[in-house]
Formats: sequence, structure tokens, C-alpha cells
Amino acid sequence: MNWLTNFVRPRIRALVQKTDVPDRLWQKCPKCGQMIFHRELEANLNVCPHCGHHMRISAAARLAMLFDEGQYHRIELPKTPSDPLKFRDVKRYGDRLKEAQGKTSLSDAIVVAHGRMGGLPVVVAAFEFEFQGGSMGVAVGAALLAAARLAALQQAALIVVPASGGARMQEGILSLMQMPRTVIAVEELREAKLPYIIVLTDPTTGGVSASFAMLGDVQIAEPGAVIGFAGARVIEETIKEKLPEGFQRAEYLLEHGMIDMVVPRKELRATIVRLLGLLMNRQAPATVLALPMAQGASEAGKGAAPAE
Ligand SMILES: [Zn+2]
Repeated sequence: MNWLTNFVRPRIRALVQKTDVPDRLWQKCPKCGQMIFHRELEANLNVCPHCGHHMRISAAARLAMLFDEGQYHRIELPKTPSDPLKFRDVKRYGDRLKEAQGKTSLSDAIVVAHGRMGGLPVVVAAFEFEFQGGSMGVAVGAALLAAARLAALQQAALIVVPASGGARMQEGILSLMQMPRTVIAVEELREAKLPYIIVLTDPTTGGVSASFAMLGDVQIAEPGAVIGFAGARVIEETIKEKLPEGFQRAEYLLEHGMIDMVVPRKELRATIVRLLGLLMNRQAPATVLALPMAQGASEAGKGAAPAE
């Protein structure tokens, strides 16, 4: 039997699985429709080489892309009640959770890891959109709080990368409570005087955009990402007006002062490393020269802006 289960079955499985491969060899860009070879797409960080469309990527790929040499340590997320309301629509929420866990090998829609970027300590919390649309329930809220506390403990910067449809509706009011809860997480970080950087990716909507995701010290977004609270169609129907072109896209938000920069995925890591250098290196980039001033005031002048 051993020979059958250990040797024959994996072989058969491998043979059967080969049928999946051709689908993944080529991927069609949802924007320009061009076919892209999977290796080329991977090398280009899942950005279409023809039109620059930024496709969604997994939390694992995001972490590998951000940390120095792709090296990081994942932390175990706090245990939370999995189906507090015993919710059921066409399917049991508990079953939906199990399905999502099986599909992503994650316990919930977020991954928290720590490591270094540009040699500086960082904690990164990345959402997994494949897990129930990256929605925020109790587990995600608890994970964000844990991430902020870990950052405070390690004197590290916190980088959060949301990719989320909003609140986890199957957790009802409990999921809405994660909005103030995550704001508290941000506050704790602020009290510890540590940088908090947000990388808005496609999509960041609903309760996520209405809480921690808009509170970064620096708000970065990926090109073309949909960022907003309510869907464009809902708004159009409510206000009975046509919305402007590019509404709720990263570039539109930048133009209207809602975010600080739109950064292509290829430049994302370098941009964050540069920002962290500015925010965390307490040493001045140039020697500090004493400004000519009246005696007695010189003490207060020390550590002031570096000479330019
Ligand atoms: Zn394309």
C-alpha cells in the first residue's frame, strides 16, 4: 500500500495536474487584451508590459517584493472567534471561511511580517484579496492592531498594503467595529512616533478606505487603483449625475489632494526605502552648522534644520 500511496498516487496526481499548466502559461491583460507569457509577467511584477496595467498580486508576492532580499518573518495572527454570529446566507459563513483558507493557505485576509527595508526595521501588513475579497472582519482588525504593536515594540515603521472590498458583512456590526479599532492602532503608532505608510492598491474601498487606510503619514497608491468608499454606480444613482472620467482612480485622488503620490510597482520599494530613510534616520544628511544667533538662544537652535 505504501508504494501505491507514496509513489504511484503522487505520479498520477502530477500527470493530472499538468492539465492546469497551459492556462497559466499565458495570461490575458484585462485592460489591453494582450497575451503575456507568465515568466514575463512575473519578472514585471504582474504589471502588463504592453499597457502598464497593474494586476492584483497576492500578499506573499507583495511581501517578497518589498523586503530586503525578499527576506521576512511572518508573525502568527491573534486567535479570534471565527464565526461569531453563526451567519448563513446561501452558504454557511464558517464554510466560506474554510474554503478561503484552503484556497489561500492563510487564516484570514491579511499577512503580517517583519524584516528590513533599506536596512531599516519595518512591519508590513498586506491584505490578501483572494481571501473573501480582502474584507475586514475581527481577525483583520486584530491583526492590524498586532502589527501596530509589533512596530512599536521593534521601533519599526508600519507599512500597510490594503486590497479590500471593505467590511466583512458576514460579521455584521463586529466588522464595522474594526474601523475605530484600526484607527486606535494607528494612534498607538503615532504616540510611539513611528512612521506609518499606506500603499493603496486595487481595490481599496468601503470600511477599509474609511478607516486606517486613509490615515497614513504618507499615502502612496499604485497606478489605476480604485480607491473610494461607495461604488461609482451607487453614487451615480444617488446623486443622479454623471461622474467625471477616472473617478475614484489613484490619479484622480492625487489630482484632488487625497493622496501624496502614485508610484508604479517597479519603483515602489525604492520609493518606500527613500521615505523611510528620510523619516527614520535621525542623523541629519549633512553636518549641522550652528546658525549665527544671539547667545542663550544657541541651545534651542541645536538640532534644528540641517544647513542647506
Ligand atoms: Zn495590458
